[in-house]
Amino acid sequence: MPVEFQQALPLINTLKEAGYEAYFVGGSVRDVLLKRRIHDVDIATSAYPEEVKAIFEKTIDIGIEHGTVLVLAEDSQYEITTFRTEDVYVDYRRPSGVTFVRRLEEDLLRRDFTINAFALAEDGQIIDKFDGLTDLENKLIRAVGVADERFNEDALRIMRALRFSASLDFDIEEKTFEAMKVHAPLLEKISIERSFIELDKLLTSDYWRKGLRNFIDSKVYNHLTGLVGKEAQLENILKNIKSDYFWFTTSEQAWAYLLINLEVENCKDFLKKWNVSNEFTKKVTNIYEAYKIALERVWEVKDLYKYGFDAFMYAEGLLEAEERDIDTSLLPQLTMKLPIKSKSELNINGQVLMNHFNRQGGIWIGQLISEVEELVVNGQLENNQEAILEYVEKELKEE
Ligand code: ATP
Ligand code: MG
Repeated sequence: MPVEFQQALPLINTLKEAGYEAYFVGGSVRDVLLKRRIHDVDIATSAYPEEVKAIFEKTIDIGIEHGTVLVLAEDSQYEITTFRTEDVYVDYRRPSGVTFVRRLEEDLLRRDFTINAFALAEDGQIIDKFDGLTDLENKLIRAVGVADERFNEDALRIMRALRFSASLDFDIEEKTFEAMKVHAPLLEKISIERSFIELDKLLTSDYWRKGLRNFIDSKVYNHLTGLVGKEAQLENILKNIKSDYFWFTTSEQAWAYLLINLEVENCKDFLKKWNVSNEFTKKVTNIYEAYKIALERVWEVKDLYKYGFDAFMYAEGLLEAEERDIDTSLLPQLTMKLPIKSKSELNINGQVLMNHFNRQGGIWIGQLISEVEELVVNGQLENNQEAILEYVEKELKEE
């Protein structure tokens, strides 16, 4: 048993000593079996939330209505979730409620895919109700039970299947795949943020090519905002990235490349529909712009100033992966030439200007500072206060 599980064993034992059942469940069991690095260790138990809270000293209610209690152990914390079933899905979004149950089997039945429905007992025994071990061996993603029903209950599972195919290098079992195609329209009913998370994970996965292949072949894109009818554009991503050894370094880089291939004109408008943060949108836009400039002319110091170094580094990665005949080797030199990284590094500010010229604040300050900023960035004016004041004095005289 890996160390992450061993560390959590005392919790399982405590629950068992109190007369309940407890198992490791979910993605961590799958990942251990695949010899992948595990992140969060999830524990499922027959104890009801109140019972879990009574057993452990330090607990936090993090999702008690879903049966999840966070238990603070010595050097870690664990989510312990009561065995549960999910009630009818009213709006295709979320179960209308959960029912706590005492039997593990019922809990495993509600899980999405056979490889996500293992339970691991404290003695190392694997409970495999749906032949997930065979699917693991054959590298297959297969819905638990009747695929049609499972995707009809929760369409997010369609995105999850695609995402797991990308992260695990698994194929999607035929009936499961067919059911995904049939129920894909239901994705229009679930919140875009949830789809974003899955598509984002897909793009930044090790086997993103496989994930994207399945994404295209399933035609799921036809039910996501901004992607309707974009088959050819999505295919271009696979075609244009020549290197087999390319992985998107960040989500922003992946989405910038998606938007480039979709020939999106306005990144902001597109990403608004995906409800992402302003910060994310800005970073994506910067990479997109840096890439677009490179197709037209060599990068200049002023570009670097405008969009930031990171954007160029990520754009460079994309251009290299496309094996385009574009020389980006000057990027480090450009960076060295950049006199300031932001306005705050200018050796001037409004207060100094007002004092020096004995004038009141007003629009003139902003205008002059912008002019100075541009000149400094372009290397036409030195970033020292004396030089800047001299320049400003001349400008004011010309007014
Ligand atoms: P990851 O490695 O990304 O954390 P995971 O399989 O652990 O993958 P989680 O979202 O952490 O995924 O969910 C934990 C477990 O809960 C899953 O393994 C699965 O058994 C179950 N699960 C999660 N989301 C769903 C869903 N939408 N429908 C059914 N079961 C789900
Ligand atoms: Mg998980």
